Amino acid sequence: MGLTHLPAPMPIPPPGPARDPGLPPGATMAEAAAAASACTFCALHLPLGPRPIHQLHEQARILVTSQAPGTKAHLSGIPFEDASGERLRDWLGLERDRFYDPTKLAILPMGLCYPGRLPRGGDCPPRPECAPLWHPRILPRFTNLRLRLLVGAYAVRFVLGPRMALSERVARYAESLPTHFPLPHPSWRTLVWAKKNPWFDAEVIPALRQEVERALAD
Ligand code: SF4
Repeated sequence: MGLTHLPAPMPIPPPGPARDPGLPPGATMAEAAAAASACTFCALHLPLGPRPIHQLHEQARILVTSQAPGTKAHLSGIPFEDASGERLRDWLGLERDRFYDPTKLAILPMGLCYPGRLPRGGDCPPRPECAPLWHPRILPRFTNLRLRLLVGAYAVRFVLGPRMALSERVARYAESLPTHFPLPHPSWRTLVWAKKNPWFDAEVIPALRQEVERALAD
């Protein structure tokens, strides 16, 4: 099983009643986070309605750019509060206390709200409006960022470009250091893929933990 099988990209819908939430240029990270929390920009496309989920603090050392919340995160309001989150924390070598400390680790997904289910199963891709709307408003407000973890094909392609398959991008992680670390999404599918690609557990995970500790060191 490969890592690059993704649903076709969803087109950005034509202008409708969506309203850009806006943000003053001098807004603080706390103000930007509050504006993101109140966003309803693509509400018409969200089957469970908007509930933007993120973890943001201007002093965070590590930024996790993941895909989009699942139903558990939508209900709890807590990112990565599921089996994928347990797997990701294990990969990073972080216990819950450090993972959920926003002054250490921030979480800004490609889509901040749960995007719904595909007719044939699995979650929809992150809403295509979301990252172009919020990432440019949030990213400049970090003051101490040392490492950005790109978790899943959507984040990897958005930030590093589409030229390389995700498996190859992960295998060649060292080329993205010291600023970025490309990773697969920590879903059960990746467990199957990792068994067929033992270099991931043997080489990539130890290197990832080393980079995480480097970013968190004083
Ligand atoms: S998915 Fe993003 S753009 Fe859409 S309502 Fe949620 S925060 Fe706003």
